[in-house]
Amino acid sequence: LISKLPNVGTTIFTTMSQLAAQTGALNLSQGFPDFDGPDALREAVARHVMAGHNQYAPMTGLPALREQVALKVASRYGRTVNPDIEVTITPGATQAIFCAIQTVVRPGDEVIVFDPCYDSYEPSIELAGGVCIHQALSLPGFAIDWQKLSDAITARTRMIVLNTPHNPSGALIERADLDRLAALIRDRDIYVLSDEVYEHLVFDGREHASVLRHDELYQRAFVVSSFGKTYHVTGWKTGYVIAPPALSSELRKVHQYVSFTGVTPLQWALADFMADHPEHLDELPGFYQAKRDLFCDLLTDSHFSFTRAAGTYFQLADYSAIRPDLDDVAMSEWLTREHGVATIPISVFYQRPPAGLRLVRFCFAKREETLRQAAERLCAI
Ligand code: PMP
Ligand code: GLN
Repeated sequence: LISKLPNVGTTIFTTMSQLAAQTGALNLSQGFPDFDGPDALREAVARHVMAGHNQYAPMTGLPALREQVALKVASRYGRTVNPDIEVTITPGATQAIFCAIQTVVRPGDEVIVFDPCYDSYEPSIELAGGVCIHQALSLPGFAIDWQKLSDAITARTRMIVLNTPHNPSGALIERADLDRLAALIRDRDIYVLSDEVYEHLVFDGREHASVLRHDELYQRAFVVSSFGKTYHVTGWKTGYVIAPPALSSELRKVHQYVSFTGVTPLQWALADFMADHPEHLDELPGFYQAKRDLFCDLLTDSHFSFTRAAGTYFQLADYSAIRPDLDDVAMSEWLTREHGVATIPISVFYQRPPAGLRLVRFCFAKREETLRQAAERLCAI
C-alpha cells in the first residue's frame, strides 16, 4: 500500500493521554474537562433516548438545534443566518473542518495555515489533493505576519485557515486582523475556514472577533464551532458549520457522504439545553477565567514563566529556567514520567518549529483539586 498520508503518525493527543494513563500522571495534556457537562443537558439525552429519538436526524441537522444556533449567532454576533440554508450540524468540528476543506480544495490548490496549528488541518488538506502552506505566527504573541502572508498568497491559494481563540497559544485575532485579511483576499478566489471552536472561552472582558461579525469575510467563509467545548462534552463529537447559502449547499454535498448526519438524541438534548439555559454562555468565560487564574496564580511560585492565555482552556508555559537542555517533546515526557503532570509539546504543531522553543501546553479545563495538585507538583520542580 502506498500511504496517502505518509507523514502522519498517532496524534500527540493520543500519545500523551496514553502516557498519562500508563504512568498515573495528572492529565493536563489532551484538551478535555475532567468534570461533566451540566446535569440538565445529560438528563435531556437520557430523556430523548427513552422518548424514541434514536433514528437518523435530517442530513443537515435537527431543525430545533439549527434554530438555536441561528438565535445564538444573532444575539452574539448580530448576524441573521437562515438555519435552513446556512447552518449544518456535523459530528464534531473535526468533521466540519474536513468537509469545508473538501468542498473547495482541488488537487494542486494551496491552503495557508498558521503554525502552530491544530493537527487535523494538514491531513484534511492533503486528502483533498491540496498543498498545505505553513506560515509561522510571530512570537512571542502568536500574531499574523501580514507581510509574510501577503507574500505567501499565489494564484493557486484557495483557502486560508484561521483559528481564534487559538489552540495551542490561547491568543486572539482582533477585528483589525479580519479587516486586513478581507483587504488582502478581496478580488481573489480565496475562501476562509474560521475555526472558532473556543468562541465562548475569551477572558478579561475581551471580545471574540468572529468572522460572523464581518460582512465581507463571511461571504466567503466557513465558520466552525463545537458543542463539545462549549458544553463540557468533548466526547459527544457534535459541532456545526455556518456558511453563506451557496457554500453551505456545496458543503452539504460533502457532509452527506462523509457522515450523512450527526447523533440524533445529542442534537435534541443540545437544542433543549440551549433554549432553556441561555445563561450557560454568559457564565462560561468567567468559569474558565477562574480556572486559568487559579492555575496561573499557583504557578507564580514555580520556575515556569508565562503570559496568561487570552482565550481557550490552554495555558502555555516556558520552562527554560527548569530544563533548557530538553526539547519540548522530551520535556513533556519528563514532566509526565518524573513529575506526574502530562502536557502537550508545542513543536508538534509546527512544520518547522522555531529553534530553541521551550514551551509546553497545559489544559486547565480541570477541577480545582486537579489544578491544585498539578500546580503543587510543578512548583516542586
Ligand atoms: N479545532 C480545534 C482548534 C480544536 O482544538 C479542536 C478540539 N479537538 C477541534 C477543532 C475539534 O473539535 P471536535 O472535538 O468537536 O471535533
Ligand atoms: N482539541 C484537543 C486538544 O487540542 C484534542 C482533540 C483530539 O484529541 N483530537 O487537546
